[in-house]
Amino acid sequence: MRTVNAYAAPSATEPLVPTTIERRDVGPKDVLIAIRYAGICHSDIHTVRGDWGPITYPQVVGHEIVGEVVEVGPAVTKHAVGDRVGVGCMVNSCRECENCRAGMENYCLKGNTGTYAAVDRDGTITQGGYSTHVVVDEDFVLRVPAAIDYAAGAPLLCAGITTYSPLAHWNAGPGKRVAVVGMGGLGHMAVKIAAAMGAEVTVLSRTLAKKDDGLAFGATDYYATDDAATFEALKNRFDLIVNTVSAPLDLNQYLRLLRLDGTMVNVGAPPEPLPIQVFSLFNNRRSFAGSSIGSIAETQEMLDFCAEHGIAPETELIAADQINDAYERVLSSDVRYRFVIDTATL
Ligand SMILES: [Zn+2]
Ligand SMILES: [Zn+2]
Repeated sequence: MRTVNAYAAPSATEPLVPTTIERRDVGPKDVLIAIRYAGICHSDIHTVRGDWGPITYPQVVGHEIVGEVVEVGPAVTKHAVGDRVGVGCMVNSCRECENCRAGMENYCLKGNTGTYAAVDRDGTITQGGYSTHVVVDEDFVLRVPAAIDYAAGAPLLCAGITTYSPLAHWNAGPGKRVAVVGMGGLGHMAVKIAAAMGAEVTVLSRTLAKKDDGLAFGATDYYATDDAATFEALKNRFDLIVNTVSAPLDLNQYLRLLRLDGTMVNVGAPPEPLPIQVFSLFNNRRSFAGSSIGSIAETQEMLDFCAEHGIAPETELIAADQINDAYERVLSSDVRYRFVIDTATL
């Protein structure tokens, strides 16, 4: 075991505080990573505040991790000391179920092992990236290409793959019209990636406040959903709608914007059920779908794609003692577009 610095939530209601945690010894297939940067994801906040159910405290969150390999176990073949690597939302899976065998660990039928607040193989609770080091099985460690800026690269490990996976699965590309709902951490990545894939991208945001950004990120159109005329103007238009918003929306209003065989996919996770009028699906043979992060192979593909196309998240670098303020700013949508913690300040 080794003791490392971290920032942890002591309870659901208290601010995060500096602390130390124990990392396991490096096993035969493990990689010890010196974490350089960790992104702040909205899920981190939901988790520490118990919004998604009770958790065990103290809890360190963070699942947008980039760093450098500083030690490898004797059976490690995929990574070497000095490599630039990343860790995303999961650190293990059962590896035996139908989905794992198909290379879709994110859909492990026994549930993948989350990077934080999950029960690890050894029965301990996983602790995330707001720390100086982490020990991870090599199969769940990604290569971060040299072309990707270290600090800006961190949010690719959750926001990047969460949007890349549905865009790739539903074939966003030349000749396809893609709408991105919401222009936050996930949404701004969806715009950049869909545009790089060659799709025609439209942003549907509550207001036009971020219109200049949206167009700069590669969107060709930008509409305010506060304006009812938007839903008239865009009827039957899109092949794919990626909804990144975690608040409840009138899904029927959005489904009517899909053309023949179009799909609306949710990557935002509103806690309450949302009503769907089945007739909104009948017309144009529409589909409503969900998508959860991406597999390890797909995450690597995303990192390589972003390196090749020069895509990086827009980030604001903060020190550890700004994490609690950053949480408040995330909750009030006052960030363009992702906070990244410099772990040298832990
Ligand atoms: Zn996340
Ligand atoms: Zn499995």
